[in-house]
Amino acid sequence: MTLPIPDASSPNTRDRLGRPLRDLRISVTDRCNFRCVYCMPKEKFGSDHQFLERSALLSFEEIARVTRIFKTHGVEKIRLTGGEPLVRRNVEQLVKLLADIPGLDLTLTTNGSLLAKKAQALRDAGLKRITVSLDSMDDAVFKAMNDVDFPVAKVIEGIDAAAAAGFDPIKVNMVVKRGLNEHSILPMARFFRERGHILRFIEFMDVGATNGWRLDDVISAREIVDIISREMPLEPADPNYTGEVAERWRYKDGSGEIGVIASVTQAFCRNCTRARISTEGQLYTCLFATSGHDLRSLLRGGASDDELSAAIGKVWTARADRYSEIRGEHTMPLKKIEMSYIGG
Ligand code: SAM
Ligand code: SF4
Ligand code: SF4
Repeated sequence: MTLPIPDASSPNTRDRLGRPLRDLRISVTDRCNFRCVYCMPKEKFGSDHQFLERSALLSFEEIARVTRIFKTHGVEKIRLTGGEPLVRRNVEQLVKLLADIPGLDLTLTTNGSLLAKKAQALRDAGLKRITVSLDSMDDAVFKAMNDVDFPVAKVIEGIDAAAAAGFDPIKVNMVVKRGLNEHSILPMARFFRERGHILRFIEFMDVGATNGWRLDDVISAREIVDIISREMPLEPADPNYTGEVAERWRYKDGSGEIGVIASVTQAFCRNCTRARISTEGQLYTCLFATSGHDLRSLLRGGASDDELSAAIGKVWTARADRYSEIRGEHTMPLKKIEMSYIGG
């Protein structure tokens, strides 16, 4: 079936499946101080791993310029990610540049390791929302997952610093992998319900080509909701907006909510409005894309804003990605890009 190509210069730029461009995830570094086994396993990201040269990274000014252009295509939400965004030097200066663009909802995802130090500076720079990743309350389990011996208490310290700096709500992401941390589901739910932060459980995904993903290792969102509900009854809550990635569930006693991100068992491609920019300025239209579109060459080659805008529009209007919906079919791409590079 041939689909019509929509107008590529409209603020409501739509792709070939009619999906608008609303979210932009920007990877600000491909480096990380963790080696989470499901993301940057040590065997593949060892001491000899070649990370990008500094000159290859988009500068803060380049990121801000591209962001302004994406906004004209309808982008409303920006998420800074990586790699670990807080290891990029002076990242709060980038936050300031982006926070100064009116009408954008700006957020950042971090492993929390440097948050105790950085929370106030990020807040002062204009960051309104933050998501912290934490996979267990159990030190042995968490250390086995981050694989750099990083303790739970330090992440909690970071979360507390973020709360003290005024971030509200704070979201906490927990990737659940069978055999690794399913026993942490309930302790995590109890802890963050008490603290009043929104815990979101993420199904272990087959991103990249190095994490040894198997479907058997996925604990489904449904199982997670059942496990929690048996002790702390849950009921479904309405999405905050169309295309929200996390399915919301609230505690029946009114003590808060959780989210589940069922990217494997309940694919949400039909509502996917997300584009990603890699650390070196490649534009990707799907987390599972096998190739990107080089915005950095345009930026550094003297392209005007109109030319950049036309290039972005052209890429989005040609988009037909729906990897999660067709996962398991035989036409799967073989050379997927690592999440730390493309931006989680
Ligand atoms: N370093 C930051 C952090 O960990 O929060 C930001 C980047 S990380 C790639 C973004 C999110 O992707 C994290 O919440 C992480 O847990 C999640 N993630 C990484 N690999 C994953 C996988 N294989 N399946 C599901 N989620 C994954
Ligand atoms: Fe680093 Fe985040 Fe990937 Fe863990 S999930 S290795 S913290 S980028
Ligand atoms: Fe979006 Fe691709 Fe994920 Fe589907 S698989 S939800 S198109 S990023």
